[in-house]
Amino acid sequence: MTIHCDGKTSYGSYRKAMQDMRLIRSKSKKSEVPVRTYKCGLCGNWHLTSSQDSFKESAERKISKKHLY
Ligand SMILES: [Zn+2]
Repeated sequence: MTIHCDGKTSYGSYRKAMQDMRLIRSKSKKSEVPVRTYKCGLCGNWHLTSSQDSFKESAERKISKKHLY
């Protein structure tokens, strides 16, 4: 059931992704842990992202917002 997209774990729903993110965050002692989830445009599933990715995604969100106007 799990599809790997770009080496990331995929989740079929936002809820599952959030559950796993909380689990990883509570267990992991690494500095880089997933901070939020996002829906992938490639596979249509949900992935977890670290803070480093969030900058890129917020920039993409700005662009898509422009297209709406
Ligand atoms: Zn994907």
